[in-house]
Amino acid sequence: MNGNVAVITGAGSGIGKAVAMRLASLGCSVVCGDVNLAAAQETADAIGGKGQQAVAAAVDVSSAASVQAFVERALQTYGSIQFLVNAAGIWQRKTIEEISEEEWNRIIDVNLKGTFLVIKAVVPHLKQNRFGRIVNFASVAGRSGGVWTGPHYAASKGGVIAMTKNLARELGPFGINVNAVAPGIIKTPMTETYPAEVMTATIQRTPLGRLGEPEDVADAVLFLLTDEARFITGETLEVNGGLLMD
Ligand code: NAD
Repeated sequence: MNGNVAVITGAGSGIGKAVAMRLASLGCSVVCGDVNLAAAQETADAIGGKGQQAVAAAVDVSSAASVQAFVERALQTYGSIQFLVNAAGIWQRKTIEEISEEEWNRIIDVNLKGTFLVIKAVVPHLKQNRFGRIVNFASVAGRSGGVWTGPHYAASKGGVIAMTKNLARELGPFGINVNAVAPGIIKTPMTETYPAEVMTATIQRTPLGRLGEPEDVADAVLFLLTDEARFITGETLEVNGGLLMD
């Protein structure tokens, strides 16, 4: 890990933040991207406070111009990029009849198009170096339809899984591995509004008997970035305590 540069979106909160902290603790220089710059700055400050390397940068992953400026900033700051972790995401629990067209578009724009735009901006650089590790964020919802979520969210995460496989084929010949993680229910601000009965029922259905912590997912991301995972690409790694097995 030491000496590598990691670009992480959604690094201001929850799982993205845990990934940033973990990678920095192992010697990576971390670019903490988030639409909430103050939150990204908090993550970078927490890392800097431990004497480790991080910068914060604003990015709206749903905007190509914002993503381009973000990736340029990362390259200007650290000179290269080895790892990309696409953790930025938004969630909504609504029924098909409740979802407006704008809400559908927003979820797809951030979760699916956002992942596409950041990869597109980073890939020319990774190709030049003939090395890169990309980890996308799917979800149990992208496989099973979800525990407590809307159809737009489930569709966006199913799209991430398909795109991960497609890009693994396209980018493998250039030394770039593309994988995803599919978390179950993880205790972050995203799941704060889940009803207690959904949480309890989920724990009962989970062989490991608890909800996930952001660090559980961060460690799975870390594995996919290490040399130990060098022959793994196109994979979506379940991180759900056994809630869903397929
Ligand atoms: P979170 O809400 O704690 O963090 C998400 C971060 O993404 C926030 O800091 C937010 O500001 C940022 N973000 C939102 N829109 C953005 C945009 N347009 N551009 C840049 N940043 C943006 O959520 P989390 O639980 O840490 O989720 C991280 C990822 O994991 C998401 O992709 C989510 O869909 C996925 N996931 C989470 C769970 C869970 O149970 N928490 C389960 C499955 C998948």
